[in-house]
Amino acid sequence: MPAKDMDQIVNLTKRRGFVFPSAEIYGGFRSTYDYGPLGVLMLRNVKDAWWRSMVQLRDDVVGLDAAILGPPAVWAASGHLETFTDPLVDCRNCKERWRADHLEPSEDGKIHCPNCGSTDLTEARAFHLMFKTHAGPVEDEGSVAYLRPETAQGMFTNFANVLQTSRKRPPFGIAQQGKSFRNEITPGNFVFRTREFEQMELEYFVPPDEAPTWFEYWCHERMQWYLDLGIPAAMLRLRAHDPEELSHYSAGTSDVEFAFPWGWGELEGIANRTDFDLNAHAKASGERLEYFDQATGERYVPYVIEPAAGATRTMMAFLIAAYDEDEVGGERRAVLRLHPRLAPYKVAVLPLSKKETLAPLAHEVLTALQPHMMCDYDDTQSIGRRYRRQDEIGTPCCVTVDFQTLEDRAVTVRDRDTTAQDRLLIDELVPYLMAKLGQ
Ligand code: ATP
Repeated sequence: MPAKDMDQIVNLTKRRGFVFPSAEIYGGFRSTYDYGPLGVLMLRNVKDAWWRSMVQLRDDVVGLDAAILGPPAVWAASGHLETFTDPLVDCRNCKERWRADHLEPSEDGKIHCPNCGSTDLTEARAFHLMFKTHAGPVEDEGSVAYLRPETAQGMFTNFANVLQTSRKRPPFGIAQQGKSFRNEITPGNFVFRTREFEQMELEYFVPPDEAPTWFEYWCHERMQWYLDLGIPAAMLRLRAHDPEELSHYSAGTSDVEFAFPWGWGELEGIANRTDFDLNAHAKASGERLEYFDQATGERYVPYVIEPAAGATRTMMAFLIAAYDEDEVGGERRAVLRLHPRLAPYKVAVLPLSKKETLAPLAHEVLTALQPHMMCDYDDTQSIGRRYRRQDEIGTPCCVTVDFQTLEDRAVTVRDRDTTAQDRLLIDELVPYLMAKLGQ
């Protein structure tokens, strides 16, 4: 696997409108990012691919979109108020702050500040990661609210609502995507770790004795999802947590990890959360959060298997995996070999020349394709440069309208990866592209 140059990739995402530093005209804002015209399309595609696999193609999972703001009671019951902390150390010399669990002793057995090398570090202290705010006009203890640090709790607090309204029975799942917020001590590595990010989480409720089997099932399913969307097997691994690494609620966790240019990093955690959350919320709220099987008269609190992924972090992994450079016609090109499902644009319509005569027909092609797929339209610069631009943003197909098209209503379709070209009638385009793109 050739080393991926992270600077090139970050540069491409900025230059081509995938990701911008947030509030850039004011100098940026603390590792927050905005998703530009291409980024918003790609991020949506990542989430749609997840939703398709986790909800649409299954009959045992339903969706949810719960609130981001929540009362302290939720986070007290879940254990977050007490335990959702990272160990923070300060360097007394350069004043930088670090996560103690991210610092490794060097050869001399001492821990050095990664910034200045000093060993004069403070003792680790627990730093709380939740963003606290106030709901309503009065800023007192009674109005405290938190921005959710994970989407999961909304699925547990709505367990009874969903069970009742969806008429599902274990094993069944609730899926949710959305923003989460963590006041990370050391955000960084581009959008790998940010304070505001998007998650894609499934809580899958199962009879307790089936939990180990379903845990294995979801580990396999989730690895396969990344492989199916084009991440090479050599860039992926499943890593089981050591017992001391486990979260307070987990009886077992495995992470899907990706070979980032700086080393292996987590894309998703798959955890056996047992009945911890439902029991905790039942106890704190006084509500019954259990499953009653009318046929057998059996009553039990389901165990939960949770595959929890990050949408923004995963989008970055897809970009890194897709980035490639090769040579076409003696010229170097950068190309994003994105899976068609993830590519921001599926097709670009390119009139060969800017001449007025081609524009109406090129627009006719565009409007024929637009209801079926996301299209770009570009009539600037030479055709070669326009192909390069589309290669660089991962557009799988370019459709070129030329002067011959005026005569025979045939267009050229160019493939991003092979650069091979096919000629076909405009009327044949939609089925041809739908088949080629697997839409
Ligand atoms: P880490 O150990 O990297 O802080 P975590 O184990 O706390 O992460 P989880 O709580 O399991 O992460 O969250 C599930 C997923 O959400 C992660 O696998 C990751 O993809 C994503 N995620 C978590 N924190 C962030 C963040 N600060 N920025 C971007 N994505 C994140």
